[in-house]
Amino acid sequence: MHHMRADRNNLRYAIIGAGMSGILAAIKLHQHGETQIAVFEKAAALGGTWRDNRYPGLTCDTPSHAYSYSFALNPDWSGYYATGVEINAYFTKVAADFGIMPLIRFNTEVLSCRFDEGQPVWQLGLSTGERMEADVIIVASGVLHHPNLPDLAGLASFRGKAFHSASWDDSAILDGARIGIIGGGSTGTQLVNALSRRAARVVQFQRSPQWIMPVPQFPYSAAEREAFRKDPALMEAIRNDPQYWANIYRFTDGLTDFTSPQMAEIEAICRQNLEAKVTDPALREKLRPNYPAGCKRLIYSWEYYDCVQRPGIYVETGKIETMIPAGVRMQDGTLHPLDVIVLATGFKADQFIRPATVTGRNGLTLDTFWDTRPTAHYAVTMPGFPNLFMLNGPGSPVGNFPLIDIAERQWVYIEQLLAPLRARHAVAVEPTRAAHAAYEARRIAAARKTIFAAGCTNWYLDKTGIPGTWPWGYQAFAEAMAGPAAEEFHFIPATDSGARKQSTWESR
Ligand code: NAP
Repeated sequence: MHHMRADRNNLRYAIIGAGMSGILAAIKLHQHGETQIAVFEKAAALGGTWRDNRYPGLTCDTPSHAYSYSFALNPDWSGYYATGVEINAYFTKVAADFGIMPLIRFNTEVLSCRFDEGQPVWQLGLSTGERMEADVIIVASGVLHHPNLPDLAGLASFRGKAFHSASWDDSAILDGARIGIIGGGSTGTQLVNALSRRAARVVQFQRSPQWIMPVPQFPYSAAEREAFRKDPALMEAIRNDPQYWANIYRFTDGLTDFTSPQMAEIEAICRQNLEAKVTDPALREKLRPNYPAGCKRLIYSWEYYDCVQRPGIYVETGKIETMIPAGVRMQDGTLHPLDVIVLATGFKADQFIRPATVTGRNGLTLDTFWDTRPTAHYAVTMPGFPNLFMLNGPGSPVGNFPLIDIAERQWVYIEQLLAPLRARHAVAVEPTRAAHAAYEARRIAAARKTIFAAGCTNWYLDKTGIPGTWPWGYQAFAEAMAGPAAEEFHFIPATDSGARKQSTWESR
């Protein structure tokens, strides 16, 4: 193939994934004047999580004007929180507006990446059978992408439709149906809300209750949208709303220590919400969590407690024994006859770019490097994997933050590492093993004290039980992303011929 021509004045960039992060990288490189950019997207359309998730009620719980690229504000958002459908349309429009559609190779999965030290260059193997070379890889393959499919006895025997929330079956009839929802995270909760208006009966199978943070939701009127269009400062004001940021900081400053007053304050708000909104004492106790608020990702909702109290909505807290052809049988013998079962059971958050195989220097594979847990230097780079940069990779901030802002800040950091490569002062860059080891030790020590480690199950925890997240506050993240510490990186200088010198790699 090669729409990446051998123009050696410009670096060749391979971006993996055309979701929020990959589109960002493509736009930034394109705007910088880079001419050799290929975005590999395994699906037939862009949008990542917003393409995959099409479940009824899908809404982003970051305010719409904050969940927008800083350089592409959108006056047309329908309300304070936007729906998944309009967010997906937004990414499609932005990609077109910024001229990056021709750079995306749809239906093309990257199966392997192998670093050839002799050149140096990354060799990519594609699902089309093609091979291609890239100087730089931007991994933007997402974190919540691979569905976690629970091992539920008898599921295959169920006569109705059963599917994961991220693989919605459009042929399932919802109106007037009896629907079971397994899981009570952000997804399960939003499903209960939407289906409480459509189904004859909803049974939410709740293994653990969730803390619900009350938030406002309201539509933007045509007049408001017109005002946003005429005066983008109004949208900036919403993005920078001090109240919104005060809430973010309360959470991010508090999360670093699960005994912090901020987390206690957050829990008090959630508890007050539960006490005030849920009138039936038995239901209230079913919905009362027994772990600290913020340990699982907080559910932001303006309507869950209203919806779950509607007629026909039932919260089942017992243990599932087995699925049967007609529905679900509980261990206490209760039968729930159902037409549809939605598995809102979350994602395998430790996969990242995998199952693609990534082989760095000296044959080091990503599976080996990530044997204990996925790890990256400041969530972006990895020793042994030169010229490979991740957006929203392992150890990125997660929780109730605007992930677009995270990716934009990570891009600022990445660009500074790219600068010497672009200037041809260096042909490769990677963090030193010592710098990364010291960073990861600090990160793990801090992560153990965070609210995510306060004694609950959540998708942040790695297989050793340590949160795989950014464990410091948001401000600390912003400061870290302002610029990489040069001494933590190893640059391979360019020779006159542009090739590397054997001796200059860090030995291992
Ligand atoms: P999740 O938060 O991981 O929740 C999975 C749910 O399934 C939990 O309630 C879990 O119970 C339950 N579960 C898992 N396996 C089960 C089993 N074998 N039997 C019974 N229950 C089981 O997944 P999610 O709700 O899809 O959300 C994932 C993340 O996606 C969120 O945290 C958020 O970051 C993002 N998201 C965001 C939005 C948004 O509005 N911005 C919307 C949806 C998702 P336990 O709690 O007991 O483990």
